[in-house]
Amino acid sequence: MDRKQKVLIVEDEKNIVDILRFNLRKEGYDTLEAFDGVTGLRLALEESPDLILLDLMLPEMNGFEVCKLLRDKGRSTPVLIITAREEEKDKILGLDLGADDYITKPFSIRELMARVKANIRRVAMAAQTSPQPQEEALDLGRLVIHKEGARATKDGENLELTQREFELLTYLASHAGRVFSRQELMERVWNYEGYVGDVRGVDVAIRRLREKLEDDPAQPKYIITRRGAGYYFQKDT
Ligand code: CA
Repeated sequence: MDRKQKVLIVEDEKNIVDILRFNLRKEGYDTLEAFDGVTGLRLALEESPDLILLDLMLPEMNGFEVCKLLRDKGRSTPVLIITAREEEKDKILGLDLGADDYITKPFSIRELMARVKANIRRVAMAAQTSPQPQEEALDLGRLVIHKEGARATKDGENLELTQREFELLTYLASHAGRVFSRQELMERVWNYEGYVGDVRGVDVAIRRLREKLEDDPAQPKYIITRRGAGYYFQKDT
């Protein structure tokens, strides 16, 4: 690796920042810290970190706004939201605003580090594979997946997918008809190797993807649930 990767911690609880900084540095990352949302956003824009750990309840500007403004400015830096256990709504809203994943307080350091590594690796892999021009579009009839620019269209209209939704759709559509468990999707789309934690993030992402993709999200025609097994992609019939 040519340079140390840099993680921005945006969190107002000093003891959590201390724990995060200690463990990230032990793993060889550089760290930047912000204790409020305004500083967090400024550092995210000026310092171009490789990943952002973002608390939601912050002074001056909350984590949702930080995430939204960052994405509005076209930055695709991976964002891991740090949230309290009961705030299920918050996780969903965070993912809607373009966060890549969330981790629930209190979190295990091992799980956190696995997610940090997986998200940084995912971006590095995408950067390596993107200049290959072959097979730049996957034509599925009404639905077309354009590798270039990581976007998908339906009936010629852009679906406005997040990066994660695009990757999930591309993965399922490239293996049409094959059923994947939540666990498998966590490993292959989220890059969480040997993942044994919370897999509900998959359901949240599928739900959001269906809302953008399906004519009627309650009666999905593309992304189908196989009860007790997982999800699969079905081509236009
Ligand atoms: Ca807080």
